[in-house]
Amino acid sequence: MTIDTHCHYDMMENPTDYISKAESQGDIIIGMTNLPSHYRMGKAHVVGYKHIRLSLGFHPQLAATSQHELLMFDSLVNFTSYIGEIGLDFSSAYSNSKDIQIKSLRHILSKISGDTHKLVSVHSRKAEKELLALLLEYRIPNVIFHWYSGSISLITNIVSAGYYFSVNEAMTKSANGRKILSTIPKERILTESDAPYNKHYNIRNTLEYLNMSEKEIYQNFRCLINRMKY
Ligand SMILES: [Zn+2]
Repeated sequence: MTIDTHCHYDMMENPTDYISKAESQGDIIIGMTNLPSHYRMGKAHVVGYKHIRLSLGFHPQLAATSQHELLMFDSLVNFTSYIGEIGLDFSSAYSNSKDIQIKSLRHILSKISGDTHKLVSVHSRKAEKELLALLLEYRIPNVIFHWYSGSISLITNIVSAGYYFSVNEAMTKSANGRKILSTIPKERILTESDAPYNKHYNIRNTLEYLNMSEKEIYQNFRCLINRMKY
């Protein structure tokens, strides 16, 4: 049984085939969406699945062109426990929308501030420090840093905040990714595919590299999920 805590199955050619197969194998998938309208469209297709979820997202790369979707975020936020993909992206292609990204993220975080029943998956490229500061400012308790590629020194701060990391096969293939993987404490590691955007998404290969079992990842996941209970 694999656990995929960050997957964009709604962007696949045939999402229903993909999630049906996963469900029949007993795999767990937390689906991301890039915009609230995508969540609204996809939600009905996921009802009835035991191990497949869909999250309400607002991708930072779309912040500049999708401001009108924030109101829809507000109207849907109380219908799900899963939030993602949200975050910040200050890489060169998106750094000109920094201000609007921060403003949008503040809006989103204010809606889920202090909510222990939400699980949040975040995108943090080139904005890891700023993102962590905002998550702490808004007291967001249950966070997974997806495909972390920031500094090694910040990992300690993210761990101290009680947060987790979802890691993928692509990270096992770069020197920086491997350094990050060897720094994250094993009990804070979760697995992800980031499919279909990620070419190297095999979860079993990731586990083999980490020398971790599916069971260990499941235990980590349970620890996080248990925090969400009343
Ligand atoms: Zn993603």
